Amino acid sequence: MSIKYISTRGPGNPQSFTDVLLSGMAPDGGLYIPDSWPEIDHNKLEHLQGLSYVDIAMQIIYPFIGDTIDKGDFQNILIETYQGDEFNHSNLTPLVQVGPNAWILELFHGPTLSFKDYAMQLLGRLFDHVLEKQNKRITIVGATSGDTGSAAIEACKGCKNIDIFILHPQGRTSEVQRRQMTTVDAPNVHNIALEGTFDDCQHIVKNMFADVQLRQELNLSAVNSINWARIMAQTVYYFVAALALGAPNRPVSFTVPTGNFGNVYAGWAAKRMGLPIHKLGIATNRNDILTRFFKSGDMRLEKVVPSLSPSMDIQISSNFERYLCELMDHDYDSLTKLMESFKKNKKFTMNDEMMRKARQEFTAQSCTDLETMDMMKNCYQETGVLIDPHTAVAMHGAMKIIAEDPSVPMIIPACAHPSKFPQAVHQAVGIKPPAIPRLVSIMKKAEFFTGLPNDLKQVKNFVTKNVSH
Ligand SMILES: *Cc1c(COP(=O)(O)O)cnc(C)c1O
Repeated sequence: MSIKYISTRGPGNPQSFTDVLLSGMAPDGGLYIPDSWPEIDHNKLEHLQGLSYVDIAMQIIYPFIGDTIDKGDFQNILIETYQGDEFNHSNLTPLVQVGPNAWILELFHGPTLSFKDYAMQLLGRLFDHVLEKQNKRITIVGATSGDTGSAAIEACKGCKNIDIFILHPQGRTSEVQRRQMTTVDAPNVHNIALEGTFDDCQHIVKNMFADVQLRQELNLSAVNSINWARIMAQTVYYFVAALALGAPNRPVSFTVPTGNFGNVYAGWAAKRMGLPIHKLGIATNRNDILTRFFKSGDMRLEKVVPSLSPSMDIQISSNFERYLCELMDHDYDSLTKLMESFKKNKKFTMNDEMMRKARQEFTAQSCTDLETMDMMKNCYQETGVLIDPHTAVAMHGAMKIIAEDPSVPMIIPACAHPSKFPQAVHQAVGIKPPAIPRLVSIMKKAEFFTGLPNDLKQVKNFVTKNVSH
């Protein structure tokens, strides 16, 4: 029997993997979670030691897909994704030692130099395969503050059955981030530079999904990290890294830079399946809603303030609802009430018993811009390794856990290449990160985008006019 997917707002009407892949979000406003978890026990983990990324991915991910995609087809998709030309390091996710018992897990060897490529490249190919089989087309509409848009565009640019529209706030992303999106010249890729903020972009996208008629007419689909398939794909590198450092016979810890709670939730999912993870650290920048929550038990929304780590400048961590569902023992009604009250009152409080449980699974640390810069500088001075600001936030958070448990290896996912954030690196360390051929070439290419006012109707019109079906 294969795994089905249920909404965090209620278990009725379970869906298959391919359904949740294509739709992204549950129609009741909840997020899809698996109705059971594959068990990867000690013995199975020992058998995974020394296997390739693709072979480990096959063992970890295939149970989530079950019979909705043929096993041989899926293996081929994994090989195309991870053994083709997209990732330019023969070890897809190298570990670099930065302390007596601390490692950076480099997740920036994909086409857009952020960890998002590792899931998005697989997602694009899964979409293409399933749409071809079902003889369907979809329209992806998404908002980005930087890294998601380019990873999604790179993943979908060659897909025959997808039109993709990405909204970015005009003039508010870095030049590198903008060019990674706008220099892609493909008939199915449409960049919209919106006259507004990231929140305005997201607001428009949400309203388009809420328009049932439009949603059906265009077969709208989401690729932000609420899409279950992205979480699933991200669990793999937690296994790969832990196995490389001696799991299951030696537990390891992770500290993960967090915005939407997607990546760290994937780490939690790996643990849920049986990977012996000792501590799971959440690292936030000054937008520290999660860190405040773990300290006080109060989830309280505050204004987003720009930081040196812009991909984490988020206040509503969408994926946290997935964890809350587990924490609340699948009490769907209470969770629904909680999320509705959060939407209305911008806050909720969790009781002490739940908080005790939550604090056993996660620790959380926040980091100011000054601390971020210090960390980048210290890391370079002590190890010669340049890190990007997001990685620095995680490394800052990791220090506390390392001090408490020095004997447990600490793994810090480096979610972006330092060359994606040259100003911040230069400001903190005093040297320019090396020029990456992939980034040099886009600085000279022509850009393709359409500027639009912050107006739902005009964006809708633009999308409807430009879809190819
Ligand atoms: C997206 C992103 C994050 C945040 O990841 P979440 O899954 O949203 O928590 C952190 N760092 C970088 C570089 C990113 O691109």
